[in-house]
Amino acid sequence: MNKAVIYLDNAATTGILPEVVDAMIPYLKNKYANPSSVYGIARENRAVINNCRKKLAKSIGANENEIYFTSGGSESDNWAIKGVAEMYGRRSGHIITSKIEHPAVLKTCRFLEDKGIDVTYLSVDENGLIKLRELEKAIRPDTFLISVMYANNEIGTIEPIREIGGIAHSNNILFHTDAVQAYGHVPIDVSDCNIDLLSASGHKINGPKGIGFLYVREGVNIGRLIHGGGQERGIRAGTENVPAIAGLSKACEISVKTMKTRATKEIFLRDHLIDRILYEVPYTRLNGHRINRLPNNVNISFQFLQGESLLVLLDMYGICASAGSACSAGLQKPSHVLMALGLPVEIANGSIRMTLGLDNTMEEIDYVADKIKLFAQNLRELSPQYEDYRNKRV
Ligand SMILES: *Cc1c(COP(=O)(O)O)cnc(C)c1O
Repeated sequence: MNKAVIYLDNAATTGILPEVVDAMIPYLKNKYANPSSVYGIARENRAVINNCRKKLAKSIGANENEIYFTSGGSESDNWAIKGVAEMYGRRSGHIITSKIEHPAVLKTCRFLEDKGIDVTYLSVDENGLIKLRELEKAIRPDTFLISVMYANNEIGTIEPIREIGGIAHSNNILFHTDAVQAYGHVPIDVSDCNIDLLSASGHKINGPKGIGFLYVREGVNIGRLIHGGGQERGIRAGTENVPAIAGLSKACEISVKTMKTRATKEIFLRDHLIDRILYEVPYTRLNGHRINRLPNNVNISFQFLQGESLLVLLDMYGICASAGSACSAGLQKPSHVLMALGLPVEIANGSIRMTLGLDNTMEEIDYVADKIKLFAQNLRELSPQYEDYRNKRV
């Protein structure tokens, strides 16, 4: 990563590892054969795909025939939900999801609502956890799918996935989880959690962009996404992106190998950043669950200031942070996730997300905390609301 900046936006995307680039280069250069061809150099490329599929399967406790390559998280989410609706919804039926899903899930569900499928959007508590009682109550005889994300991309809350899988399983309902933020960052076992479909993406684990996968449990029928050749068992046709698959393979291998040490380091830095801001900057709130939380996620609301203004100041000092998801950043609209926590609009708009990665150091974190402390004070001094508040208090 370019050390001219302090990069704290790893939930938006991560820097590609040099080992990953090295793994890709031969397939971008001379190893260009179509893996479906019969000669030796093509069979070599076929082996790259098979090996990657094996590694991905092993990383979540699945079988290799249950892994389908896609272009990333958004495609996997779209395919999982539409593909299941096509086979099990049959133009009616009921899906349960949550209010804090990524737009790739939410907008797919809204699309299906227009096609006559009912959708329940579960609310969450003040920490972003879905309520299992509410989930159980939402189940109807025609519910065919529950789709709840593994971990939230804005506030880092990790959902009670095993419990949700248990409820889905005992009611004969399929369970899909958007694990794009969790995959490669926390251990995942699809059997243990009764997960039937799982979405993951390469560029959130220091791999290339434009590659990801969908896990589909054997026996689950999913509609064909792309008609064409026989690739991906004939349901997602198109010549495989071998360079990206070679990169994903390496990224998966490294993320599995380093998960524990990475998480330990990230949690240490994360908690230091959270503690410094909460203790040193008044009128702040941590968003997301304190414990059931992604190792790299910090999301804080600052009363009496605009998150966007704070981001602009941080950017002037080379600090890359985010107002929420990349998809809602830049817009005035408050984050749907923060609103679902029950935060007032002005608090939601006073929030920033900082997501750590491989390269961050304690020195950087202290620098960022110092700057936030200073800028929060500067911005509040310009805020009429802050002045009113202080006048009322004295
Ligand atoms: C990034 C992200 C996606 C989209 O993944 P792409 O590979 O960028 O399409 C979906 N869901 C979540 C939770 C994400 O964080």
